[in-house]
Amino acid sequence: MNRAFETVKASRQIERIVNGVATSDGAGVRLTRLISQELQKRLDPFLMLDNFGSDNPDDYIAGFPDHPHRGFETITYMLAGRMRHRDSAGHEGLLENGGVQWMTAGRGVIHSEIPEQQDGLMEGFQLWLNLPSNKKMISPWYRDIPSQEIPSYVTPDGVSVRVIAGRSNGVEGAVSRENTEPLYLDIDLPGGSAFHAILPATHNAFVCVYRGEIDIRGKRLAEKRMAVLSNEGEGAILKAGSPARAILVAGRPLNEPVVQYGPFVMNTREEIYQALSDFREGRFAN
Ligand code: MN
Repeated sequence: MNRAFETVKASRQIERIVNGVATSDGAGVRLTRLISQELQKRLDPFLMLDNFGSDNPDDYIAGFPDHPHRGFETITYMLAGRMRHRDSAGHEGLLENGGVQWMTAGRGVIHSEIPEQQDGLMEGFQLWLNLPSNKKMISPWYRDIPSQEIPSYVTPDGVSVRVIAGRSNGVEGAVSRENTEPLYLDIDLPGGSAFHAILPATHNAFVCVYRGEIDIRGKRLAEKRMAVLSNEGEGAILKAGSPARAILVAGRPLNEPVVQYGPFVMNTREEIYQALSDFREGRFAN
């Protein structure tokens, strides 16, 4: 079957390259934080992006014991390894190689994310996606999407694309969200290939390379680096001279005030105080 693949004439440019900050979170999990509070406005509706990746169990084994969230969604993409998830509402799931966990914290969950492996490589991303003010207090929800259930396609250039969220080249992703219309693609580029993605001008977008390096409009993006893309241009063209893998994420900004205190992201300070007292007084767990 012939399919018309998206063609971008003028790509968005790399506006800024982000090296990320090495940090640790949870019970000492080592990770690189690529999106933190200073980029929340520029990359609205995205709040945080962590990249974890290590073959040293000391860097990840203790995981993230019980902790709360309120007011946003977490999207965990496990490239390698296994992570067990349990929450206060009684949900439990195992996230494995290539799988995604999409969790809507809404009004509040307390959960744990604990590796289920003693050795070997553990690698992935956790992205935080904001919720609009009128949905911050919705009921918690989550879905484990095994690798084989993530829609994918291959372009004529041989680029393999997994559509975690949104719609790409006519392929509907695993999850969609009406307010922010997130697009989340995992792109595997063979050497000498190019991938075109049309992006609405309003949508903020970034690319993170996790294997090899890519070129965006003449500028090189090295492994483990993230690029904030400009909003000018009808989309993005990612070129790879040698094999490379990257995620491309875009979303429509909410343009609402963001007040974050650790794992709580609301619109006002009062709502943060409310979250703290609800958490302390046990109104998160059901
Ligand atoms: Mn969490």
